[in-house]
Amino acid sequence: MKCTVCGKEAVIKLRHANLKLCPEHLVARVEKVVADTIKKHRMFTPDERILVAVSGGKDSLALWAILIKLGYRADGVYLDLGIANYSEPSREFSEAFAAERGLDLEVVKVTEELGTGIDGLLRMVRGKACSLCGTIKRYLLNRAAYKGGYSALATGHNLDDEAATLLGNILRWEEGYLTRQYPVLLEEGKLVRRVKPLIYLSEREVAAYCIISGIRYIYQECPHSWGARSITLKHILNELEDRYPGTKLQFLKGFFKVRQRFQPPEPVELRDCPVCGMPTAAEGLCRFCRLRERVHTISIANGHHGSTS
Ligand code: SF4
Ligand SMILES: [Zn+2]
Ligand SMILES: [Zn+2]
Repeated sequence: MKCTVCGKEAVIKLRHANLKLCPEHLVARVEKVVADTIKKHRMFTPDERILVAVSGGKDSLALWAILIKLGYRADGVYLDLGIANYSEPSREFSEAFAAERGLDLEVVKVTEELGTGIDGLLRMVRGKACSLCGTIKRYLLNRAAYKGGYSALATGHNLDDEAATLLGNILRWEEGYLTRQYPVLLEEGKLVRRVKPLIYLSEREVAAYCIISGIRYIYQECPHSWGARSITLKHILNELEDRYPGTKLQFLKGFFKVRQRFQPPEPVELRDCPVCGMPTAAEGLCRFCRLRERVHTISIANGHHGSTS
């Protein structure tokens, strides 16, 4: 198999792009796709400061590496979610990546913020791991970006993630989510701009980029992802992609073209949470502060009087 660009030995075949690439041209393609995506969607400029949400996985570490290589000013934030056999190794990969390259990584520990991590929370309150985790991540990542004075918060969502989310939202006709599914969501008060520069790159391309570039990342998945609906949706999309290469990209890009036809929901009025001062659509405390109060109350009822602040 020969590289479509230079004729040297190719290491990857990208049927959706009709390309076979050698390591050098795979790296060049990935970086160009990211650079073009940032410009096309006007995600940020070289003089803005960007905060990358780093999980220790291939996508977020590749994203951070690419932004630095492209000359952007990017720092990282790692959320220690308090998940057994997962949070610790993923933090180690994130810290090693930052240390080896002399980059700034802030570590935020959910246990210190909430009084318990995701595992502890699941033993205390009802709810699905990923939904509780999503609330916590959205809040803490936005707060880190806002307090750090960053212009945008960048996440490593790739084509496979976004196509699966889109399929899930369409199957349930989640109009509110559909209007908000886009590569860039502009800032609104204390809600920092959110951007997804890897959105047009497949999981395989990002993994190959990491291996070729010597980026070491955690292979293991979060234990709570087992049985998650998004995994089933990804399998189904992979089967379609196998038969009809380019399906995922067409699905996502086609949606972005027609997306404006969906009516945005009534604008939600955001106010400041009386406890933490961050924006919330809820009356009274924000969801995060409510969760923290519940953990506190349950801990007291169970006889644990440790600090939960
Ligand atoms: S799989 Fe679910 S619980 Fe695990 S990190 Fe992702 S959102 Fe959180
Ligand atoms: Zn080549
Ligand atoms: Zn709050």
